[in-house]
Amino acid sequence: MLKSKLLTLVAKPFARNEQQREYPQLWYCVCRIRPKFLIKIIQFVCGLTGHELSKTEWGYGGGKYADRWCRWCNKRVRVPKDSLYFQFDKNIVRNLMKMLTNQNRLRKE
Ligand SMILES: [Zn+2]
Repeated sequence: MLKSKLLTLVAKPFARNEQQREYPQLWYCVCRIRPKFLIKIIQFVCGLTGHELSKTEWGYGGGKYADRWCRWCNKRVRVPKDSLYFQFDKNIVRNLMKMLTNQNRLRKE
């Protein structure tokens, strides 16, 4: 993807560690932009060519869906939780989901 290649070139000089050099991302720059409405504009423009979900950023707080973030604009995208298994370390995802399911069960009791 052309956008991906271009933004990788843009992001590389800003990388602060080995992981960021290997897998450049811009979301951590975007989320510091103020005023915040500029972030919305950037996310809209990024969305025109399709967000690219980050291979490192995800979150799960219970329920059927998990959160992922665009590698470039930090847009949050909800995905079915099972899709995390295909992208991330299966054991880590499974353990987190088990932990949260137990927590929810305890809360209901
Ligand atoms: Zn995006």
